[in-house]
Amino acid sequence: MTGKHSNVILVAILIGLLCAALFVFGGSRILPRDLFVTLLGVCDVLGQFFLLGLRMIIVPLVMASVVMGITSLGDVRKIGGIGLRTLGFYAATTALAVALGVLIVTLLQPGAGMGDLVTAGLHIDEQRMADIRAKEDIGFGDLLLSFLSRNIVESLASGDMLPVIVFSLILGAILTTLGERGKPLIACFDGLNEAMMKFIGLVLWIAPVGIFGLVSAKFGAATIEEGGLGRMIGSVGKYSATILIALGIHGFVTLPLLCAFLARRNPLKYAGHMMPALLTAWSTATSSGTLPVTMECAEERAGVDPRAAGFVLPLGATINMDGTALYEAVAVIFIAQAYGIDLTFVQLLVVFVTATLASIGAAGVPQAGLVMMVIVLNAVGLPVEGIGLILAVDWFLDRFRTAINVWGDSIGAAYIDGRLRNVGPGIR
Ligand code: ASP
Repeated sequence: MTGKHSNVILVAILIGLLCAALFVFGGSRILPRDLFVTLLGVCDVLGQFFLLGLRMIIVPLVMASVVMGITSLGDVRKIGGIGLRTLGFYAATTALAVALGVLIVTLLQPGAGMGDLVTAGLHIDEQRMADIRAKEDIGFGDLLLSFLSRNIVESLASGDMLPVIVFSLILGAILTTLGERGKPLIACFDGLNEAMMKFIGLVLWIAPVGIFGLVSAKFGAATIEEGGLGRMIGSVGKYSATILIALGIHGFVTLPLLCAFLARRNPLKYAGHMMPALLTAWSTATSSGTLPVTMECAEERAGVDPRAAGFVLPLGATINMDGTALYEAVAVIFIAQAYGIDLTFVQLLVVFVTATLASIGAAGVPQAGLVMMVIVLNAVGLPVEGIGLILAVDWFLDRFRTAINVWGDSIGAAYIDGRLRNVGPGIR
């Protein structure tokens, strides 16, 4: 897609978001409730249509782009170096995000004085809690095992991305060692990769309508539900504010600084290039669903080398979740504060480590982080029921952490792009 076209789409997405705000605000007041609910149903279908369009491409896109990213690096030693840098960057940014979360929630104490809410009994959605409890037995061994799969075809069919990425990384690395015999398969993946990038360009044309639909359906439903959006967020307003402040610092300060000093790119310009992906992440609350848009923005708008974007972004969408890691830590410490439990320094360290691991294990789908929180709560012996405190606002906060997750991946791609090009001092 040309730069001009993608700017048209960016403007159309912004108009779509504006229309959604007007529709939700106006429609919930002016339209009869039944009609409004019916229209929300239509919006939901439009949104799901766009989301399915994205999902449909993900598996072939990830396979082809990871294999091509690796094979075009050529030399296995170079792959090792770049791979280690990518993992190091992701681990460091996630750790920075969690540390920031722990600091801010300890300073702001959003859970202090929430005891009444706890003793009054939480309004728990039993169905959701049952899903969450089902995760209670997950251990760190399971986390390690989730990198592999007993049947790669099954993983491809179910969109289980981590084994697909590991498989593609290894396949790509082996293909680089096969010489002439590897070339036909590499050419196949090359063609598939090119075709998928064109495919994304097509799906992006429906992004403005899809984003309008997704946002209207979700915010519209929240507006007409008892109490409305304001009350829902207000009930745990200090907690929501704490998460948003911490995410804001990570997204507007930490990551841009890394963008400028490590990737040597102007963060404002780069954010502008990545904007369609960031808005899609916010609207869909899924970083793996957003992946095609992230790749398109990085390669076509920001000019990131496809060798970097090709494997750094899919890997990031699956294991690098700065926003989720930060949120896990803040939420768990908030729950402890609400229950009047003082966490010791060692327990805070346990939160730090487990929040990082939980974010690696969380899938890039809506509210996956909420479910993985059980691991962190269990690790420090807090009641799983505490999740009931934050359940109602989770879908709302999820959007912001997903956007930060995608922003973190994008900076990772810019950093590796800079390494591949050996950029010297000075900011592009
Ligand atoms: N929705 C997030 C993502 O897709 C994961 C989470 O924090 O729930 O990146």
